[in-house]
Amino acid sequence: MARYTDAVCRLCRREGQKLFLKGDRCYTDKCAVVRRSYAPGQHGQRRAKVSEYGNQLREKQKAKRYYGVLERQFEGYFELASKRKGQTGENLLSILESRLDNVVYRLGFAMSRAEARQLVRHGHFTVNGRKVNIPSYLVKPGEVITLKESSKSLEKIKSVVEANSFRQPPKWLDYDRDNLVAKVVALPTKEDIDLPIQEHLIVELYSK
Ligand code: SF4
Repeated sequence: MARYTDAVCRLCRREGQKLFLKGDRCYTDKCAVVRRSYAPGQHGQRRAKVSEYGNQLREKQKAKRYYGVLERQFEGYFELASKRKGQTGENLLSILESRLDNVVYRLGFAMSRAEARQLVRHGHFTVNGRKVNIPSYLVKPGEVITLKESSKSLEKIKSVVEANSFRQPPKWLDYDRDNLVAKVVALPTKEDIDLPIQEHLIVELYSK
């Protein structure tokens, strides 16, 4: 399966903001955006005028990078979003947010979406009692996501869950913290998503 393998901090520097792709490090002053707040590359420190197209493109790249999605899959999500009822941009955010790896991250089982993706791939979670090891699986209302019994005692997972115990899960997920089980009560809406993504720019880009 194709995935981005270059240094992820370059992605944040390219977008000019923290995308929180590395977990703990993102919250320290070792963060590359803090240390070098300009775009990577030879011309990174040049101030270039950004065109309308450039703004739209950057917004799409930012959304892809937050969720760790590559181009083709993102295009597929856009197509799916445009077929759903309602506003395409908001549908797109809802679809991205419904990915199982994102749900695992939102519930505090991982410090980053990349780490959550790995946990899902390694088969630590079930959906409605069945093992699902596909990070892009889209959860639906009524489904129940559970950390497998055999994974509850893993030190790595226990320590992250403990460290994230202060985090509030989004309200579209009904999380039973004692049993590490969550039920999807609704599809996420734009109001549930705290990422600074201007989805209308992505829609404009794909409408050209
Ligand atoms: Fe981005 Fe985190 Fe790297 Fe900072 S440390 S540049 S937020 S991935």
